[in-house]
Amino acid sequence: MTNKLNYFVGNWKMFGDFRSLKIIYRINNFLSNFNKIHTKNKIIFCIPNTLISFYSKKLKSNFISLGAQNCHYNETYGPFTGSVSASMLKKAGAKYVILGHSENRLTGDSNKLIKKKTKSASNQKLKIILCIGESYNEKKNGKTFIVLKKQISKSIDKKCDLSKIIIAYEPIWSIGTGKVPKIYELKKTFKFIKYQFKKIFKTRNTPIVLYGGSVNEKNVRNFSSVFEIDGFLIGGASQSSKKFIDIMKNYYK
Ligand code: PEP
Repeated sequence: MTNKLNYFVGNWKMFGDFRSLKIIYRINNFLSNFNKIHTKNKIIFCIPNTLISFYSKKLKSNFISLGAQNCHYNETYGPFTGSVSASMLKKAGAKYVILGHSENRLTGDSNKLIKKKTKSASNQKLKIILCIGESYNEKKNGKTFIVLKKQISKSIDKKCDLSKIIIAYEPIWSIGTGKVPKIYELKKTFKFIKYQFKKIFKTRNTPIVLYGGSVNEKNVRNFSSVFEIDGFLIGGASQSSKKFIDIMKNYYK
């Protein structure tokens, strides 16, 4: 067991209403004891924009931070019907924002667009959880590292506060499928991501890198053998307090 900080980040996707706050309350209650034993946890819930303001007023928690799941590239206000900017998210109570999730890349978020978003989010002092990951075909054709390197170099604005960027490695073929990479693949990939980030941005600081893709209470223990994994981005399983709590418990078993 090491002393490093472990992230458990929930991505609720398009899920949740005002009553779903009870899920987060249950996790918060659990953490008040759990964190006395496992002091090095960072818990973040990235929830729909419609809930951020309400949850942030209700949830007076030292244990859980709130985040959003995307933002517009324009930083403040503008003629962008249906969109929400980084400054609006910040005012609503978000501390984090997920950018570049594959579900958004699929519907038009290019590296170039994501780069603009990272600049806006960083200017607004939101911490960024930047998702990167290869498709099944890219993996099959041995292109994983090429794709990841491109996503790191092209989707982060060089003026961003790099210390506020968390990378989430989420192979697209693993999201919501029950399939996860092999442990030896993860070791290699995480080393590669950390090395490339430092090289591209000429920094000595190693970034925090999370794993995301079908993490559940049964497989989470296996990942603890990969020292380079700093935590998890958890989709489906974060919509249940029991599953999320079991993931945290089992990680330390
Ligand atoms: C996600 O959406 O970021 C994710 C990792 O989903 P799941 O855990 O459901 O695979």
